[in-house]
Amino acid sequence: MCDYIYQSGNKCLEPPIAFSSRCILHSDISDIHKLDYPIVKEFKDQKIVEKIQNNDFDFEGAKIFSADFSNVQFLNANFRNVTVSGEILFKSAVFNGDSFFDGAKFKDHVNFTKAHFFGYTGFNTVIFTKYAGFGEAIFEDTVSFKGSKFFGQTSFENSTFQKNTEFEESHFKGPVFFDRARFYGEVIFYTVIFDTILSVEDAYFRKPAVQEIVCRHARNNCEKRSDKHEADNYYYFEMEGKRKRKNLFRKTIELPLQYVFFYGVFPLYFFIVWINFVLFFAFIYWIFEGVSASPSLFSSVYFSIVTAMTPGYGGINPKPGIFQGIASIEAIIGTFMWAAFIAIFVRKYAR
Ligand SMILES: [Zn+2]
Repeated sequence: MCDYIYQSGNKCLEPPIAFSSRCILHSDISDIHKLDYPIVKEFKDQKIVEKIQNNDFDFEGAKIFSADFSNVQFLNANFRNVTVSGEILFKSAVFNGDSFFDGAKFKDHVNFTKAHFFGYTGFNTVIFTKYAGFGEAIFEDTVSFKGSKFFGQTSFENSTFQKNTEFEESHFKGPVFFDRARFYGEVIFYTVIFDTILSVEDAYFRKPAVQEIVCRHARNNCEKRSDKHEADNYYYFEMEGKRKRKNLFRKTIELPLQYVFFYGVFPLYFFIVWINFVLFFAFIYWIFEGVSASPSLFSSVYFSIVTAMTPGYGGINPKPGIFQGIASIEAIIGTFMWAAFIAIFVRKYAR
């Protein structure tokens, strides 16, 4: 019998191949003479096809040249400690039970695009040497990438994480993209290292705490690369997550920080809010004839701007009573907003 021993302690029951102590799948590619490669590859490929046909998805410890598992319906998939020297495809594969890839070594491209994982999925301490594609994949249960290393580009674009996503101590040496991904559970990002780009553009987070943590990682990543513009965008979403985590009272009173001041990162939006604020008051003066001069729309706008910025020329005055009160409110809020706008503008463009 083959001398490979599974993690469970069970022995492999397959017969060994000639001149080897291992079966066809467990025999080491590095031990095979180059001239025998095509033959061994053919036998390995045949064995994989045979196992798929028999609904046997136990590939633990297998040494594979390359394989195409696209559209395969897996029950419990066991790919622990597999070594794949070529490209391996799992496009649109469906994993109906739990799936284990722990300790696997992928020496070339790995593609799980549109794969659907229904059970727990383990990719712990996996080595992804080149491109790892998980775009549009759906993880219905927890997925764990603890201690894994990604040497190439990694894509989780448009993928869905219904439960927890764990990345503790994983290391992304290439860029990783989570653009438009949807996170419904926790995302565990402790001690993750990103050597280059971490992108989470337009990602959705059900939990505000997760939004705050992931966007903070992305912001720090941008700051490290001196991408101030992107860093500001992530800062906005980090702060939104932080606000939403607070109790109803706090998160309500802090609404203007987000939707009026835009956390100081979008001066243009803030200026547009200020213009609307001034026009709103101008319409009140105009419609209710609240100012002393001619009740034209133009002079109402002029009066409103002058009030909000406090030059107070005196050419136009609010009518006594309620309109003096309205003008006072506008002056207090308007001046504060104008000062804040200048501060934000300077911070954004004059550093
Ligand atoms: Zn074996």
